[in-house]
Amino acid sequence: MKVPTNLLKDAVNHYINELKPLYRNREASQLLFQLTDFYFGMDRLKMALNTDFRLSESEMLKLHFAVKELKQFKPIQYITGRAWFCGNWLQVGPEVLIPRPETEQLVELALDLIKGLKVPVRVIDLGTGSGCIAIGIKQAFPQAEVHALDISAEALGIAGENARLLNLDIIFHQLDMGQASKAFEGTAFDLVVSNPPYVTQADKEKMQKNVLDWEPALALFAPENDPLYFFRHIAHFSLSHLKINGNCLVELNEGLGNQTANLFNALVFNTKLTNDMHGKTRFLCAMRK
Ligand code: GLN
Repeated sequence: MKVPTNLLKDAVNHYINELKPLYRNREASQLLFQLTDFYFGMDRLKMALNTDFRLSESEMLKLHFAVKELKQFKPIQYITGRAWFCGNWLQVGPEVLIPRPETEQLVELALDLIKGLKVPVRVIDLGTGSGCIAIGIKQAFPQAEVHALDISAEALGIAGENARLLNLDIIFHQLDMGQASKAFEGTAFDLVVSNPPYVTQADKEKMQKNVLDWEPALALFAPENDPLYFFRHIAHFSLSHLKINGNCLVELNEGLGNQTANLFNALVFNTKLTNDMHGKTRFLCAMRK
């Protein structure tokens, strides 16, 4: 069915009705208002005040194609190319995970740890993706030396662009986590932080189409028979590269909190698990003894 008129409010109502069967509760209208805000600077309030706002043909097309992508469950952040994280718009694309609210919590935990440290502080983010964690830290502590690594050149392109747009001097490295120990031989860190791939094949069943079909598997999934693979690398890197009393802070699989903690407990760390805002075991802080 075609959009009845070129009045923005009519187009929006039309598309909300089209999306309603595909999305939960009020999600369809929220998505539409995000699109109108992004493309035309018209949020819900402005629209209510400008009921006679009309769209040109090319504007109508923009909305049409965006809605078409929403029908295929493409995340709105990949449609608009940006995601809101820790007070900034970050560039994102299907090469990187869309930063999650849980990961904002991880940044807050990192900032609390850094607050208590004597300068100069040196931090490394293992598997940086869009760069969101490294950026959140560098923005709060401009004096800190912040390193970020990722195996994906595409991800580093996006992370580098995000840092440049925010004028943040972060040192990026294209490396596999397994290569990090050697690459940083002789360098000691105050904080190792990471949100590594931790989703298991079993978790896949419960995942939504917008994540499964669109977000990078490389950033989501742990190796099939070794869900703690990345955590093992992170733990060993931390063992050899953290200063005494330095911390390793990771986001983890809610079902693997104790196993992940035990990995660190078996080395020389004091560990503490913390819940996310949904009450799920989500973060581990491991202090090098
Ligand atoms: N929390 C993300 C999800 O459930 C996964 C993040 C990750 O693998 N590091 O989709």
